[in-house]
Amino acid sequence: SHLPLSVPIKLPNGIVYEQPTGLFINNEFVPSRQSKTFEVISPSTEEEITHVYEAREDDVDIAVEAAKKAFNSTWKTADPAERGKVLYKLANLIEKNAETLAGIESLDNGKSLFCARGDVALSANYIRSCAGWADKIYGRLIETGSSHFSYSRREPLGVCGQIIPWNFPLLMWSWKIGPALATGNTIVLKPAEATPLSALYVSQLVKEAGIPAGVVNILPGYGKIVGERISRHPNIKKIAFTGSTATGRHIMKAAAESNLKKVTLELGGKSPNIVFADADIEKAVSNIIMGIFYNSGEVCCAGSRVYVQDTVYDKVVQAFKESSEKLKVGNPFDESTFQGAQTSQVQLEKILSYVDIGKKEGAKLVTGGERIGEKGFFIKPTIFADVKEDMRIVKEEIFGPIVTVSKFSTVDELIEMANDSEYGLAAGIHTIDINKAIDVSNRLTAGTVWINTYNDFHQNVPFGGFNQSGIGREMGAEALDNYTQVKAVRIKIDPKQV
Ligand code: NAD
Repeated sequence: SHLPLSVPIKLPNGIVYEQPTGLFINNEFVPSRQSKTFEVISPSTEEEITHVYEAREDDVDIAVEAAKKAFNSTWKTADPAERGKVLYKLANLIEKNAETLAGIESLDNGKSLFCARGDVALSANYIRSCAGWADKIYGRLIETGSSHFSYSRREPLGVCGQIIPWNFPLLMWSWKIGPALATGNTIVLKPAEATPLSALYVSQLVKEAGIPAGVVNILPGYGKIVGERISRHPNIKKIAFTGSTATGRHIMKAAAESNLKKVTLELGGKSPNIVFADADIEKAVSNIIMGIFYNSGEVCCAGSRVYVQDTVYDKVVQAFKESSEKLKVGNPFDESTFQGAQTSQVQLEKILSYVDIGKKEGAKLVTGGERIGEKGFFIKPTIFADVKEDMRIVKEEIFGPIVTVSKFSTVDELIEMANDSEYGLAAGIHTIDINKAIDVSNRLTAGTVWINTYNDFHQNVPFGGFNQSGIGREMGAEALDNYTQVKAVRIKIDPKQV
């Protein structure tokens, strides 16, 4: 293949930029060893954007070697403040390139610019937060009496493998590389095959920020090839994954069967979003919409099961329908677009198949349920009401702009329905009663509970799942724990020497 290592791209918002197409290893873009490439398409037009080089097993081995060398020679032993300094620079560079990055994300993923700009801001904030943590990683001094001196240190793990999905390509890149780098690890990261462009673009910024060669390595490629090799690689000490529960399970098995690398997983969800009768209905409806239609519904913590108290059920369903029908769906680069395209044809078809399933199960289709146009993967915001809790559309993660609305009367009944899920990623509560809000949030099986808000992230607030929604936490102080191991040091004090 004679694919050049970068191609000029003109974004629909007018920005022209150079898109790297090579693997990023040792701070250089290089062709893959086997020179294979794959096509990247725009989900909003179904047209080819470019090809990029496709990594294979041999490329993983080279990248791991580079990461291992960088870990031992510079990064592990660097003054933590130096690590912080370059991460601050990286955060600034992301902000400086914000409009280009948002445009790349919209082009590659199909999400609206409105959503993409949010991702870029969160990514910069998170990298900056990690920069601040870099020189604040502490062990403990442990009192064990005068005969010994005992302390612990938090040491990095080594080379970390990171595999990310296509719904938030840049944001997931930042959630992965931020805590790994702040704590002194080096990484080999595989972006999703559907959305490799932003991770390659920011790799230039990684180099520009002064992060040493080999610390960050980016390998676009397929899950079954690159992902598999990363999961089983003997020199990778930890794997962090975001994606489907099925693939997460597979990766955990591969980690166990190879070298028992440490595993953190951020997986699927079917999160309840609850509206009590006393809630401010207008605000609740706008939060339900942010909960399920934000990012075209391709959100692991999407509030895909809405529960409304019986006395306001009809009113909420009606208001929800009216507001949903006003949402602007279409060209992601149109400034007024709220919901862009789904990321792939596979997803489009999966989502539409669930519309059929819902209809067959006897749920009431309140609005939506169809594709928009014939070019681009656009779907109308879709609401099913009058559902039964054992329906597949209530139980299974759909990962698109489809929501079910159930009715409840008492809190106990609500808790039982809300917690009846194999998942446990997030939940939302809408009420003006603080007692109810706290009581219900304590009783929900969820890693995050949003009260009178939804899909509302902050870089200092940990995020992750109960049940089969995951293992470990991202963001906040908690994320750092996933990337360090405790070394205990115990020194015997010999009185004769004193
Ligand atoms: P996936 O979990 O298979 O893909 C996510 C990442 O894992 C990609 O980078 C992929 O290449 C990689 N991968 C796939 N197979 C692998 C393997 N055997 N070993 C290592 N890595 C592997 O998700 P998908 O197939 O793209 O989407 C299927 C469904 O997953 C969606 O419909 C949705 O329900 C769910 N999903 C959830 C999230 C989330 O954030 N929780 C993200 C994406 C998809």
